[in-house]
This record gives sequence, structure tokens and C-alpha cells, in this order.
Amino acid sequence: MCGIVGYVGMRDAAPVIIEGLKKLEYRGYDSFGVATLGSGIELVKHQGRISGYAGSANQLHGKIGIGHTRWATHGVPSDANAHPHLDCARRIAVVHNGIIENFSSLKRDLIARGHRFCSDTDTEVVVHLIEEAYARDHDILVAVQQTVPLLKGSFALLVITADDPRLIAARNQSPLVIGIGDGEHFAASDMTPVLEYTERAIFLEDGDIASLLPEKIEIFHAGTLVSREIQLINWSPEQAKKGGFPHFMVKEIYEQPLAFFNTVCATDTTTLPAFAAEKPSAVTIVACGSSYHAGLIFRYLVEEICGIPARLEFASEFRYFPPPVEGLVIGITQSGETADTLTALRKARAQHCKTLAITNVVGSSVSRVADETLFMCAGPEISVAATKSFVAQLAVLMQITNCWTGGKCDEILQHAHEVIDDTLLIDLSNAVSLCVGAASIFYVGRGPFYAVSLEGALKMKEISYIHAEGYAAGELKHGPFALLSPETPAIAICMPGETYDVMCSNIKEMKARGAPVIALGCVGDSELVDIADIFIPLPGTHLFAQILSSLVVLQIIAYKTAVALGRDVDKPRNLAKSVTVE
Ligand code: GLU
Repeated sequence: MCGIVGYVGMRDAAPVIIEGLKKLEYRGYDSFGVATLGSGIELVKHQGRISGYAGSANQLHGKIGIGHTRWATHGVPSDANAHPHLDCARRIAVVHNGIIENFSSLKRDLIARGHRFCSDTDTEVVVHLIEEAYARDHDILVAVQQTVPLLKGSFALLVITADDPRLIAARNQSPLVIGIGDGEHFAASDMTPVLEYTERAIFLEDGDIASLLPEKIEIFHAGTLVSREIQLINWSPEQAKKGGFPHFMVKEIYEQPLAFFNTVCATDTTTLPAFAAEKPSAVTIVACGSSYHAGLIFRYLVEEICGIPARLEFASEFRYFPPPVEGLVIGITQSGETADTLTALRKARAQHCKTLAITNVVGSSVSRVADETLFMCAGPEISVAATKSFVAQLAVLMQITNCWTGGKCDEILQHAHEVIDDTLLIDLSNAVSLCVGAASIFYVGRGPFYAVSLEGALKMKEISYIHAEGYAAGELKHGPFALLSPETPAIAICMPGETYDVMCSNIKEMKARGAPVIALGCVGDSELVDIADIFIPLPGTHLFAQILSSLVVLQIIAYKTAVALGRDVDKPRNLAKSVTVE
């Protein structure tokens, strides 16, 4: 994963590219670089982050250029391995998002033919291959067209050369969008760098190669000129800014009532494709990470409320199990680019299952892989840790549940965002103080609250780096009890209903082994006040409201704990937002 930006037009390219890369840093941030076409190829690249960078890249000359913010896959983060990479004559520059799987053999052959390599990346083979093709035909578009078939793997590539005013873009399995301005064009991994210049976009398809001039765009597929639909992206540039909040994560947490409400309004029986509006005979859900946790909540709702048998798989594991033979397959991916989820959906389609995708990004790959796609309306999510996109996923999934129950949940869905609003006001300072000093934290719940526990623990470990695990409460005594101590607080979600009494017993068992307990429960629960060390009363009595309010509390506890520990909340170590490799 990484972020790439290209520009061709009447502005100085370097500042446009640098500002664009800052917006893409959530995709990767171990090094960065910019190349422009000034007097020859002008290049600046460094290990480290572009945010806060105050060096000379802004002074690069030229109205055309490319840039990259990296998340290393091949070769350590270093100045040499940072993109762009240049050919031997330093007249061609390339940035790349993805992995060139056959780079070893290509590199061996290129070295044998006399090319000099300056980096350990897989990417560098691309620029030397283009160099060879360019030497034959002296046409940069043709050179890229001849190079792409030699590459195996995933790539979004941007290419410039000192001898030609065109910006060339090529895509295979890594996202790439073209922004269409007046007398200028942009190419980027997603729309966030482009939003302040234009809302018109073309999402390239796998195999597309585009040639961009300020006034002209041509897209080729298998050597043939093709036309691609221009889409209007209604995300505003303000949505991709912090707007006075100290971090994107907390801004996005506070945007959740709106994200939920907008998504509920945008998804109803009329927007569901016919094959999904009908109650299916069976449902299979494939997803990764937080989306998997949303899927686990949905599985519970589908089985418990709709009475439909449901199966849930990690998308990365789906291929190793027998595929479903009937019913609907739903893939959930925030970015729409998650490689494992795309692979799982392709497999399901190959088995003639109907596939439905749920994503936040219009134009993303998943909408071309699944039969139909439902879009959440969360707006751009910049923080690496998913929050509002998770809540918006739940909005879609709860609406599907509602549809399959004949509209029984209409009322609660129209008002659930108010519960999130109320939850944002809860004082969590005691719980945060307890978590800040913890060696490990256990999150426990039952039924759908087990899934909420998993998501709460994931948030905590992602951004605070405190070891945290979610458990089905009944599983604790089968091993994890051995780890309980006064340094390992437990967070228990204990809602009224059939699991309440047994959850109270579990809380007492944990306390008896020395672990302090933070209990999340219903407003006015005097039993939990007595048995827990800290009680957090939650608004809302409907199951949907309880899921949302408990989830939001756990997000905020993780956020505040990470801030108290001085962590880099929006860009946690070793992580990037969109996982486009398997
Ligand atoms: N595979 C390339 C590298 O390691 C690109 C990684 C990325 O997508 O950032 O440099």
C-alpha cells in the first residue's frame, strides 16, 4: 500500500503533489518523494513522513510531476528505497503502489543486460523495463504499454519522462483515479488529494493505461482507445480536513451520528438489488479486520432476528474452505480495495453465488467484482483506525436486517443516531485512567456484544499498543483466566436480556481473580454499580442502540488512552489503512 499523486496542468506541480501526498499519508508513511519535469527530471526523496516536512521539494520546477508516500513491502524504509525511482539515464521516473511479484527474475535479466540498480525495491525493475522499451520506440505511452504485460502482481503506476510532456498512468489491482480539471489532470490513489480542484473523476479499470496532457486524456485497454464514464464525487474537501479537532480519529468519531443517519437514509428496500431484497435461503459473509467484526454482528442479527442460516469467514481464509453452494454472499470492505475480500468474492461468483458488496468508496474495485454494491455514506475516513466507516457498515447491515424482517426496525433505525449523539457525552475519564496503566486489557461480551468486544480490543491495540483481547465471556475460564491480575483490567458489556445473569457471574469471577472490571450496561443498573469497579451507563434500550452505544464507548476509551500515552493516533506504527495485498 502507499499513496501516489500525479499532476499535469498550469500550476506548479510540486506543491500540488506534496499537499496531495499529505492527504494520502494514511495509506503509508515510511518515506516519500516527488519528481517533476523541470530542467530534466528533478527529484527529492527521503525516508520519513511528508507531514511536517519543510525541505526543498516545494522548489522543484515544472508543471508536471509525480509523488509517492510509501509503505514498504520490498526493501527497508530508506532514502534509496523511497519512490520515485529513475532509469539509468535519469530521464524516466516511476512511482508504484503494489507489488511486482516476478521482480527477482526481471531484475536478474536487467542486471545481465547492464542496468544499474539503486534500490532494493521490486518497483525499480519497472523503470528499467520502460527505459528499454523507450529506447526502441521513443514513445513513453508505447513503452509503458509494452512493459505492463511483463509485470506480474498488483500495481498502480505513474510515469514521466524528461523528453515528453505526458503523464502516463497504468492500473492493475491497485486503485487509481483520474481527476478531470479544466486544463489540468490529476492521478491519485483516491479522490482526497483531488477534491479541492475538481469533483469529476474517472476510476481506471484493471488493465487500463491512461495518457494525460493538460487538455487531453486518452485511456487504452488492451491497446484500444476506450471511453470511461466520468463520475461526480460529492465528498467535500472540508471532510478530508481535521476541522479543529486534534486528530482525524476523534473528528471521525464525532461524525458518526451523521454517517449512520446518512447511510440509513441512503439504504432502504428500494436501493437493495432485487436478489438481496428477497429474504435469501442462506447468507455467507466475507470480510477482514473491523469489517469482519461488523460481519459477526450481522451474522448474529441475520440468524437471531431474521431466522436465516448465516456463515462468516475471514476473507483470507475463505478460499481454504468449501464454498457456499446456495444463497447470498456479502463482502464487506471499507476501502473497496481489500485484496482478500476481492479474491473471496471472485471465488463466490465463480460458484454462481449472487454477490453483494458493501463499501465506502464509490468507484473502488469491489464494485466491479460483486454483482451489486451498496455504498455507505461515511465520507472520507483518514484515520487508520476505522470508526465512522464501521458504524456506517452497521447502518447498511442493520438496514438489510430491517428489510428481511419486513420493516420491523424502521423506527429504531430512524433514531439510532440520537443514541450515538448521547453516547458521545458520557464521561469516561475513570475508565481511561485505569486503561492507561494496564499491561493487558480483556474485553468480554456475549452474543453480538462478543463482536463489539473484539472491535473494542482491536481499537485499543491498534492505536495505544496495549495488548488487548476480545473474548466470548464464556471462554475466559478455558485458559485466559490464568492471565488475570490487578494489572489486567477487564471491560465487560453486560446488557439486559438472556445473557445478563451469566455476564454478572462472569464479572464476579474476574474480580475474584484480581482483575478490576469496567462494566458497560443499561442506565439505572444498580447491580452493575455494586459488582463492577467502574460502571458506564449506556443510553438506548433496543438491541441496535445497545450495540452502537457500547461500540462508541469502546472507541472513545481507546482513543483517549492512546492520547494519554502520547501515541500517534491517526498513523499507528506498522499499519496502513487500505490493505491491497493478500
Ligand atoms: N512494493 C513497493 C515498495 O516496496 C511499493 C510499496 C507501496 O505500495 O508503497 O517500494
